[in-house]
Amino acid sequence: MIPSSFEYHKANSVEEAVQLLSNGGDDAKILAGGHSLIPTLKLRLNDPDHLIDISKIDALKGISVSDGHLHIGAGCTHNQIATSDAIPAGLEMFSQAGHMIGDPQVRNRGTIGGSIAHADPAADWPGILLASNASINMAGPNGERSVPASDFFIALFTTALGENEIITSVSIPVPPAGTKSTYQKFVQPASRFALVGCAAMASIADGKCSNVQVAFNGVSAAPFRDAGVESALNGADCNAENVASASSNAANGKTVMQSHFASEKYRSHLAKVYAKKALSAICS
Ligand code: FAD
Repeated sequence: MIPSSFEYHKANSVEEAVQLLSNGGDDAKILAGGHSLIPTLKLRLNDPDHLIDISKIDALKGISVSDGHLHIGAGCTHNQIATSDAIPAGLEMFSQAGHMIGDPQVRNRGTIGGSIAHADPAADWPGILLASNASINMAGPNGERSVPASDFFIALFTTALGENEIITSVSIPVPPAGTKSTYQKFVQPASRFALVGCAAMASIADGKCSNVQVAFNGVSAAPFRDAGVESALNGADCNAENVASASSNAANGKTVMQSHFASEKYRSHLAKVYAKKALSAICS
């Protein structure tokens, strides 16, 4: 289908993008990689009068480590993250996940900022940002602010992004030495989106697990940290028996989605299987 007509604006700075967004009000939308927005325009699920292209803003690009944090610009593509040399030890799941998203076209155009603003429950970055205790940095008419990922993803396609705000970057604490991380997903074979994705991190020392951080996407309407899995493994010996026992708690007490690709029961089962895969990878 062909989208409704709109006026195209190219923003050259974050300030200009915020100004254009404010000028356009409810009728303006940010355009990043276009790989979620353009399909909704073509399906006429969205018909903004103004599209504000932020893809040429240099300030939204770049992946670097400073002040004990990994900073990823909102305009970085999935492929740039997957292939970046700047990802520190302990955050390998960022490189791993970047390679798993969609196909080469999606990875070369789609951005991390677009993915988290869109907040598709099956998207990969939200779970990874939750597991890694990331903060989402935003700029808007009232200046800049930062929100922990745990407060950012609210519900299905719903985030804490305010009116006329744009995401500028994400910041992730560099984990202590000895931390391992992984992202494991069961893919929907056509789209490559996650039917279930499990992001896990832990520090392993003297055969024991600590700082266990586990998050899921694809399971519920919004991504979540799984305290049941985390507490079962924290402080425990890092062995197959404890991994299996902790994984059996996955998604317990959560409202699990169902779709024509996966029933609630099957998705709940997959959550346990993918928790076990992720924790086994860390404990190996
Ligand atoms: P756009 O489509 O340009 O924008 C998406 C939304 O975010 C719009 O509402 C836009 O206004 C808003 N927005 C964009 N950037 C910002 C910003 N910086 N600040 C505020 N708002 C902003 N995703 C996965 O996670 N895993 C997959 O396996 C996967 N497979 C895919 C397969 C296909 C065939 C397709 C088409 C998409 C797939 N995606 C997948 C989604 C893909 O990752 C998108 O690129 C991503 O969700 C959106 O990023 P974008 O840069 O393309 O954003």
